[in-house]
Amino acid sequence: MSIKVVHVSKKYGEQIAVNNLDFEINKGEIVGFLGPNGAGKSTLMKMLTGFLTPTEGVLYINDIPVIPNQKQTNKHIGYLPEHNPLYKEMFVKEYLRFIADIHKVDKSEIDKVVLQTGLNSEASKKIHQLSKGYQQRVGLAAALIHNPEVLILDEPTTGLDPNQILEIRALIKEIGKEKTVLFSTHIMQEVEAVCDRVIIINKGNLKVDEKLSTLKAGQQQIIQVEFDFKIEEQFIKQISNLVSWVNYHDNEWELTFNTQEDQRAAIFDFAQEQGLKILQMNTKNKTLETLFKEVTA
Ligand code: ADP
Ligand code: MG
Repeated sequence: MSIKVVHVSKKYGEQIAVNNLDFEINKGEIVGFLGPNGAGKSTLMKMLTGFLTPTEGVLYINDIPVIPNQKQTNKHIGYLPEHNPLYKEMFVKEYLRFIADIHKVDKSEIDKVVLQTGLNSEASKKIHQLSKGYQQRVGLAAALIHNPEVLILDEPTTGLDPNQILEIRALIKEIGKEKTVLFSTHIMQEVEAVCDRVIIINKGNLKVDEKLSTLKAGQQQIIQVEFDFKIEEQFIKQISNLVSWVNYHDNEWELTFNTQEDQRAAIFDFAQEQGLKILQMNTKNKTLETLFKEVTA
C-alpha cells in the first residue's frame, strides 16, 4: 500500500481539523482529494509528509509509519506544498541543484526533471521571471527530483489561468502513469479530468471515497429542452427513461434520465411525434458537482 491513513485525527487546540480519517491508496492510483476551503486537506497532507504530528491515529507511506520515520518516508514522497514556496531570486537550474543537493541525488537528475516537466525553454531564467504556470512546473520538478514513488500535491492548479490549469492537469496525468498521486483541489471537474478515484472530505470528515467510474455509472443525465409550443405534462411523461421533469419556464423543460446513454435523439423523435420543434437543447451533466455540493453543504 502506497498510502495508509488509519483513524487519523488532528486537533489545533480545541478545533478538530481532521476527524478520524481512514483510507488506503494503492500503488499507481491517482486520487483527487476534494473539499471546500478549511476541510482539512492541507492538514492531512502535512501529516503524510511528517510536518505535523497527528493527535490520534497512524499514517503510513509504503507501509512505514511516518512518525518517527519521516526522514525515511520522505524519500518516497514528492511534495508540492500549498502556494508552492520557491526561492524566486534563484535561477531555475540553480534552485533545482539546491534541491538535488538536499536529497543527495546526482546532478544528472536535474536535466531529467527539466525535460519531464517541460521547463527546457525557461530553465536559464530566474524563477520570478516565469509565469505562474511555469513556476508551478518548477515546484513539480523539485518534487520529482529524487524520483519518489508517491506524489502529494496540495492544490497544484489554484491561482493559475485556464490554459495553465489544463497544462498542469495534463502534466499530473502524465506523471501519474508511473506514480501514486494524491492531489487536493476544490474543483470537481479537475478530479474528473485527472483521477481514477475521489475522496471528498468536509469539516475534517470523510464524505465520499469512490472510484470515478462507479460514481459516473450512477450518474443521471439532465437535458434542458425548449419546444416551440406548450406541451402538457401527460405527454412529456411518455418519454422513456425519464425519472423526473420540471417545466421551469414557458415551453422549457428540464428532463432527468436514469441512463448514461445520450437521450437527445430520443427527445428529437418525441418532438417530431408531437408535432413540435426544438428551439434549443442542452445536456447538463453536473451530477458529480451536485454530489460535491450535497456532501459539503
Ligand atoms: P484545507 O487545506 O482543506 O483548506 P486546512 O487543513 O488548511 O484545510 O485547515 C483545516 C482547518 O484547520 C481550518 O478550519 C483551518 O482554519 C484550521 N487550521 C489550519 N491550520 C491551523 C493552525 N496552524 N492553527 C489553527 N488552526 C488551523
Ligand atoms: Mg489547503
